[in-house]
Amino acid sequence: MKHICPVCGYKGFDEPPYHDCKNFEGGSFEICECCRFQFGVDDDVELENGKFLTIRDAHRIYRNIWLSFDAPVFMPYYYPTEYQENGKVKRDYLEKQFENIGINLNK
Ligand SMILES: [Zn+2]
Repeated sequence: MKHICPVCGYKGFDEPPYHDCKNFEGGSFEICECCRFQFGVDDDVELENGKFLTIRDAHRIYRNIWLSFDAPVFMPYYYPTEYQENGKVKRDYLEKQFENIGINLNK
């Protein structure tokens, strides 16, 4: 069974991205082949004075930035070719991926 990236919804991980996936604790340090997010690194964002972004917010902000670039595929060689076009995730597939993480792209 493959695990889902909580940022882009891509189902491509052999290991869960977090040891505790409910609370997003214990990042695996794996990098998503689709959106390039690294668990345990890109979700560790200090704002100021030792205050950190919540992991959920870090995911959301990263996702929005990634989307603003039209969802570029980080590793096109590994990511299924039928789901990409010009190095980006095809829109209809992106919608499906986002359904995996409960996000409706058309809202
Ligand atoms: Zn991802």
